[in-house]
Amino acid sequence: MGKLSAVWRETNHRYRLIAHECGNCKKMYFPPRDVCPICHRESIGKMKEKELSGLGTVESFTIVHDAPPAFARQRPYVLALIRLDEGPVLTAQIVDSVASEIDIGKRVRSVFRKVREDGKGGIIQYGYKFVLE
Ligand SMILES: [Zn+2]
Repeated sequence: MGKLSAVWRETNHRYRLIAHECGNCKKMYFPPRDVCPICHRESIGKMKEKELSGLGTVESFTIVHDAPPAFARQRPYVLALIRLDEGPVLTAQIVDSVASEIDIGKRVRSVFRKVREDGKGGIIQYGYKFVLE
């Protein structure tokens, strides 16, 4: 793998939700894993990339008032445990939503947003967040 393909891979993963599906037990992993923790050796070389729909359901959530300095402008924010339709569960921020409308069982979808900005270098990081459907 050359440098170019590494950059492509990284960009690809940053703007789409890519999971790995175990070719043995069919369980989906997000973030992707190279080895299935259930099948171990049976899964080596059988993990397949699958693009996720980005749709899911809120399993639980918390309103975070105490954010680290880099995220100070975003507080308070809502951090939720989201079960994606394909199975994987992940923790992510819910944005652009009125906190009182967020509840367990609500449908959400992923969006790509600025996660943080490094003032000095001007480096902007993007990542996935969720909005209410
Ligand atoms: Zn497996």
